[in-house]
Amino acid sequence: MSDLSNKVALITGAASGIGHAAAISLVKSGAKVALLDLIPENLEAVDKEIKELGGEALILEANIADPCSMSTAIDFIINKWGHLDIVFANAGINGRVSPIEHLAPEDWDKTMQINLKGTFLTIKYAVPHLKKNGGSIIITSSINGNRTYSSFGMSAYSTSKAGQVAFGKMAALELAKYKIRVNIICPGAIDTNIEENTFREEEKLKEIAIPVEYPEGSQPLAQKSGEPKQVADLVLFLSSDASSHITGTEIYIDGAESLL
Ligand code: NAD
Repeated sequence: MSDLSNKVALITGAASGIGHAAAISLVKSGAKVALLDLIPENLEAVDKEIKELGGEALILEANIADPCSMSTAIDFIINKWGHLDIVFANAGINGRVSPIEHLAPEDWDKTMQINLKGTFLTIKYAVPHLKKNGGSIIITSSINGNRTYSSFGMSAYSTSKAGQVAFGKMAALELAKYKIRVNIICPGAIDTNIEENTFREEEKLKEIAIPVEYPEGSQPLAQKSGEPKQVADLVLFLSSDASSHITGTEIYIDGAESLL
């Protein structure tokens, strides 16, 4: 079902969490993977794991929000392997979590720069290469792009995640004639390191919190957060020919969290 032999995949945010798990899944299905993240040292463990599986990987240090950095990174992939077939535009941040009146304009800009502009740049520089043979693009949005349940203070994050859905749908329509599919995945809470780099203004958040019936992160299907591997399985499906007629969709992977 998921033979990705001879396919080359770019994965952004590959050093951690969902990106790491997706890299391993794609390698196990035969793909060569370009692992992109901000700090190359953080990619070494993933690279080692891939080598132990007999897979092939390339480490790319780049900031998805920087056009020059992304254009150079994608040229690097083409120079090494000659083609690009799968793009997992996954890197993102929660940013500062704060009531709107306390959210600094710079915090808003940072979240938009990374989550939204970074997704645009990743796809922009990949498209000329994907056009040659067709391909699959997967964008990691979030259930927060469409619902606000208990996510007090995440106005910038949620806006960026909703923007990714709109951008992904426009891209699906525009790129269909080149046999490039674009799908958007919307995870609920997944057990990764994302909270470690999140700046929550807990005291100020108390001002806007509304009592909710379920604790944050609760997922009816499993009573706990999802695992990165579960998201990686979806990425694998969307990367492969098993999803050959699926494009422009947003797929929730949240154990019914968004239905609370
Ligand atoms: P994570 O923090 O474990 O991994 C994210 C990776 O992205 C990190 O390695 C980080 O260094 C990298 N990154 C951040 N900014 C970057 C930049 N400017 N350039 C290049 N790399 C950058 O987080 P995760 O949970 O695996 O998140 C992956 C994606 O999933 C994000 O887009 C996030 O918004 C989304 N998401 C996560 C959850 C969750 O609960 N974990 C839920 C919904 C959506």
